[in-house]
Amino acid sequence: MSDGLREEQGPELRREKETGNRRSAEKKKRKRRAAFLVCFGVVAAILLSIVVVAAVNRWRLHMKLNGKSSETIEVFDPYKEEGAKAWTEGTLLKFIRRPQKVTVNGEVDTGKIGDYTITYTAEYGSKQQASVTRTVKVEDTEAPVITLVSNPDSYTLPGHEYVEEGYSATDNYDGDLTANVTSSENNGVITYTVADSSGNVGTATRTINYKDPNAPVITLNGDAQQTIIVGGTWTSGCTAVDDVDGDVTSKVTQTGDVDVNTPGTYTVTYTVSDTAGNTATATQTITVVQLTNDENQAVNGKVIYLTFDDGPCEYTDQLLATLAKYNVHATFFTTSQFPDYLYCIQEEAAAGHTVAVHTYSHEFSQVYASPDAYWSDFNQQAAVIQQYTGQTPTIFRFPGGSSNTTSAKYCPGIMTELAAEAAQKGLTYVDWNVSSGDADGQPTADQTFQNIITGVQSHDVSFVLCHDIHKSTVDCMDQTIQWCLENGYTFLPITANSPTCHHHIAN
Ligand code: ZN
Repeated sequence: MSDGLREEQGPELRREKETGNRRSAEKKKRKRRAAFLVCFGVVAAILLSIVVVAAVNRWRLHMKLNGKSSETIEVFDPYKEEGAKAWTEGTLLKFIRRPQKVTVNGEVDTGKIGDYTITYTAEYGSKQQASVTRTVKVEDTEAPVITLVSNPDSYTLPGHEYVEEGYSATDNYDGDLTANVTSSENNGVITYTVADSSGNVGTATRTINYKDPNAPVITLNGDAQQTIIVGGTWTSGCTAVDDVDGDVTSKVTQTGDVDVNTPGTYTVTYTVSDTAGNTATATQTITVVQLTNDENQAVNGKVIYLTFDDGPCEYTDQLLATLAKYNVHATFFTTSQFPDYLYCIQEEAAAGHTVAVHTYSHEFSQVYASPDAYWSDFNQQAAVIQQYTGQTPTIFRFPGGSSNTTSAKYCPGIMTELAAEAAQKGLTYVDWNVSSGDADGQPTADQTFQNIITGVQSHDVSFVLCHDIHKSTVDCMDQTIQWCLENGYTFLPITANSPTCHHHIAN
């Protein structure tokens, strides 16, 4: 429309225009009111929802264990308390959780086996309570340990019962269980068993060390040394007992024999082995002697040659007096160890005793240093005897006897050599077959007496070893001689014609 037309229309058009503006403003106003109402409604609805939810929602208490509800631990191992947790949670507002305090009741003694219950509780308000429990089992699964005592040198004879060497048993929980150990043997193995209070069983085994290191023991029927007169009888045989095999006498073999009609020295050897191969031997030395005229006159044919070594000394005069009292003659194997008493040699010879050589010094290390050393010592003593008696001695006794082994320390083989040389020199050595025991320890006079009278009863001809340097020996002579005379023995001095008594040379 053109302005000219509008102006033609005039006031009417203006009215219409004003009316249009008014309507437009009202329309805008209505729109704003509607928007406000919508917003208000939404907010009101939200608020209402919150109020409704808050009114309907309830808080519930919940609990849950940390860790497992039941566990087992070994006694003495540590127990770690993991606890439990508690919280409240809305029935509608599930996303809101509020932690609650947890109270723990009960504890675990890890040093004592048993079942333990731990209770965890929580409260919410005055009406809600909750609890959870955990059971803890403390147990002992370790078996007792058995320790055996075992001596490496010990052994058990085959067929013999094992002698317990000892054992101990300890348990980690029960302590000493030694008294509860039982044992049983099967096929040479001993099994030891012990259970602890939880039923854990400990065992140990021992294999028995069976061994037989011992040879049988041979017991001779007669003396190891016997001296008999030609035509007499000797006591032969033996018994043998083994610690495993028992009586093994039937297994004994004998080598050597005795010709009772021919004078001489005979050796009989008995040998026996057990099933383990241990061998025992025993020997008997039988001397068959031809008696001299003097000896033949002996009452009952029982002769004793009393011999006294190592003197003369301070007791020799007392001995000579005792011998004189009974008119008994003996043989003195003299030394020069006590120069103050060498005069006794003269008295010995004058009284009819035989004075013979033992040794000048009696020092084994000198005497047996060499054959030359021996004969040098021998000749010194022979000269002493010559000086006091005017006689040259032909009878002698080796220091320690011909069987001594001490000489081997100084000169191996010397005894064999000296015995041969003595024979070449026309000298006779004499050992003994009865010992008074006075060279071993310090027997009393009565013990010496018993040793002698026991010994002479085993021999028809006894060579009795005594030492006049021991007062107890000299003191027992009165009683000894009296007993022997009363029991039919005859005392004689050794002469060149007497039987001899020889040990076995062992060097
Ligand atoms: Zn001696």
